[in-house]
Amino acid sequence: MRSFQVCQCGAPLECIEQPTPKPTGTEVLLKVLAAGVCHSDLHLSDGYFDLGGGKKLSIVERGMKLPVTLGHENVGEVVAIGPDARGVKVGDRRLVDPWQGCGECGVCRRGDEQLCLKPASIGVFRNGGYSTHLMVAHPRYLFDIGDIPPERAAPLACSGVTTYGALKKVGPTLATDPTVIIGAGGLGLMCLALHQAMGGHSAVVIDIDPNKREAAKKAGAAAVIDGGAPDAAAQVVAATGGGAWAVIDLVGSSATARLGLDSLIKGGKLILVGLYGGDITLSLPPFPMRAITIQGSYTGSLTETKELIDLVQRTGLPQAPIATLPLSDVNAVLKELRAGQVIGRVVLTPA
Ligand SMILES: [Zn+2]
Ligand SMILES: [Zn+2]
Repeated sequence: MRSFQVCQCGAPLECIEQPTPKPTGTEVLLKVLAAGVCHSDLHLSDGYFDLGGGKKLSIVERGMKLPVTLGHENVGEVVAIGPDARGVKVGDRRLVDPWQGCGECGVCRRGDEQLCLKPASIGVFRNGGYSTHLMVAHPRYLFDIGDIPPERAAPLACSGVTTYGALKKVGPTLATDPTVIIGAGGLGLMCLALHQAMGGHSAVVIDIDPNKREAAKKAGAAAVIDGGAPDAAAQVVAATGGGAWAVIDLVGSSATARLGLDSLIKGGKLILVGLYGGDITLSLPPFPMRAITIQGSYTGSLTETKELIDLVQRTGLPQAPIATLPLSDVNAVLKELRAGQVIGRVVLTPA
């Protein structure tokens, strides 16, 4: 098997050849059919998240062991099954839910493996799908994609379930009022598509890049706003008829979080998703006086992944733009992503 691994933080991924492993116990071995490239792979290959003020959150110190194969948005075909793996057979095409926990603690048993204190996420703490093959610990992480093409299904594992999980946190105003989405990259366009599939009222999309705003407009945004404009918050307040009930910040920088808070109506909610990095200082009295909420949202649960696949099968595919490139181009794709040159999603396929 050939895998593209982080061997040293900050360096390009290295192509490593090693014997293809055999599944034991409940493990399932898949041949990778499609592996989506996610913006967080840049942070993972750097080895840290920016906490703002010069502080860094080291992913290596949090348990990422090098070398590790990146890639957490994967669809594969089952090629071998451990003796204790039930419910799958060779030849099945499955989406892999990468957000694995220990499977045994209270958090995992409640169904929120993505919030387990001992995370074992695929493509972060375990080898991921930038590889010819992928080993999955248990069949419960595998989801039938029916007739969804692999390259369209793969991004559901991260950008899909992450935006779905965030949209669910919007609550009843999703259907009655505009939802504001900050960031119109791959995550933003997926969020927009799912917002429509979930019966969202309308979406106001914010991005500093005119090309990305144009892409959002084409994809059905009711209004697009330049986040870099000095009066951006006032524009959002005007576009939402008095302020937003919900802002989903898919960027997560100091500037976007500030803009999101400034755009809320009384009682509104800022849902923080993006991991760009930074920090903000907040006055406390406006929280109770404006009755606002800041809520973090991290990926989604196994149940949400199942709901999402059902939604996509019921309503049709979110037609977010997707480009496919061979796995061997992974370093070039990451470079383009870092330069902000990727519109929509890139999915790697076997060479
Ligand atoms: Zn991701
Ligand atoms: Zn757990």
